[in-house]
Amino acid sequence: MTQLKDTYPLYLNNVAVQPNTDLVVTDKYTGDVAFRTALATPDIIDAGIDGAVAATEPMAQMASYERQDVLMHCVSRFKERFDELAYALCVEAGKPIKDSEGEVTRLIDTFRIAAEESVRMTGEVQPLDISPRARGYQGIWKRVPIGPCSFISPFNFPLNLAAHKIAPAIAVGCPFVMKPASKTPLGAIIMGEVLAETNLPKGAFSILPASRDGADLFTEDDRLKLLSFTGSPAVGWALKAKAGKKPVVLELGGNAAVIIDEDADLDDALERVIFGAFYQSGQSCIGVQRIIIHENVYDQFRDMLVAKTATLIAGDPKDRKTFVGPMISESEASRLDGWIQEAIKAGATLLVGGNREGAMLEATLLENVPRDTNAVREEAFGPLAILSKFSDFDEALAEVNDSKFGLQAGIFTRDLFKTLDAWDTLDVGGVVVNDVPSYRVDNMPYGGVKDSGLGREGIKFAMEDLTEIRNLVIRRT
Ligand code: NAD
Repeated sequence: MTQLKDTYPLYLNNVAVQPNTDLVVTDKYTGDVAFRTALATPDIIDAGIDGAVAATEPMAQMASYERQDVLMHCVSRFKERFDELAYALCVEAGKPIKDSEGEVTRLIDTFRIAAEESVRMTGEVQPLDISPRARGYQGIWKRVPIGPCSFISPFNFPLNLAAHKIAPAIAVGCPFVMKPASKTPLGAIIMGEVLAETNLPKGAFSILPASRDGADLFTEDDRLKLLSFTGSPAVGWALKAKAGKKPVVLELGGNAAVIIDEDADLDDALERVIFGAFYQSGQSCIGVQRIIIHENVYDQFRDMLVAKTATLIAGDPKDRKTFVGPMISESEASRLDGWIQEAIKAGATLLVGGNREGAMLEATLLENVPRDTNAVREEAFGPLAILSKFSDFDEALAEVNDSKFGLQAGIFTRDLFKTLDAWDTLDVGGVVVNDVPSYRVDNMPYGGVKDSGLGREGIKFAMEDLTEIRNLVIRRT
């Protein structure tokens, strides 16, 4: 039986340290204390940034096979520690155990992809003789690591979203300081434990849960050459304004939509839409929030969704039968509960769910929801999905775009031309056909437009952000 330790250290300049036990992390289902860890003080964060600066040159000097060895070490250790990692997520995030195992599988994928990409960081030979004045000139460019990086990750994928920053940083040779979410720091801490087993240069990494005061250093310190943040739009855009000259990557939230066209295979769509809307209690940035259904299949698909939603097993995330666990906190569940009540007052029809007990909010479907309600316009980030009806495909595309967000969108159709129209028209980072917007494989370009963010992750794309192009021009005499 897997168990957590009572206390966990933080990692400062590759080394486990335990300056205090100020951060108390609860089991999100029982509310009991799960473990304690340290909160990095500003002095500690400063020392981590110093260490990262000192490690910049030694990291850049590592051969690609050495960086690959580090990443492959992580892959094998994560496989060996699979159950422990999944259990940690289940407890600290309240994530149902099957979803937690899915996240550990993706963590392993993410590091494996980074290991492969780490030996493929290539440049280009560029002929420059495009005009007489450049005759005899030859250009070659290569990528060099950008330098010490600052990473901030959210609560909902404590392992894999930290991995989407850490693994490409190692792949290119950038040292980093990482601040995991205080509600779920353990995934990143265990990654620190595994990285500490490698021969990364001293200062290559620090994993530092931090209070709000300390967190500012991650954004504002000029010694850090890039900020990569995953989290809420409000925090992300505010941090960008404080980041100074450093480039910023923002992976933020959304209110993702899926279109169910009249030719969709409804049985197939049902399973996927239910998963997209309610897995890990809807706490996914690409969770299905808006379900836009063709009028010819609306009643049938609505009834199917309602019947299936009513059967979802809610409760203890450690129980393998559980599909819907708790939200991250009672206050978050209460916030979304308020939005549901507000929508109903504004004229929405409650189809199923809607009850709440503490942090447990039932999987909920609404229809006839006025478009100006929070439930439609803002990011629900919980187990709520909203049904609406369309008659014309272009109208459905316009409804998807009627959002300040633009992360991913899904479409169920067998029509190639509609697929291509959607790909051209939808203002999002990615379109997924015959699956939900929640679909992600860890090597694909992933990120948003509009309020949903800036830049792309997906190992090879993150590696581009973590490097700068350095050109060489040679005149042959
Ligand atoms: P959050 O914005 O509250 O916190 C994210 C991280 O920022 C945490 O580590 C938090 O401690 C830190 N933070 C908060 N205020 C800060 C400050 N002033 N200075 C420095 N750090 C600060 O988000 P959350 O509740 O942890 O996560 C949910 C949000 O993340 C949702 O909006 C979700 O859509 C988004 N998200 C986006 C993606 C993506 O890849 N696009 C993935 C997962 C989650």
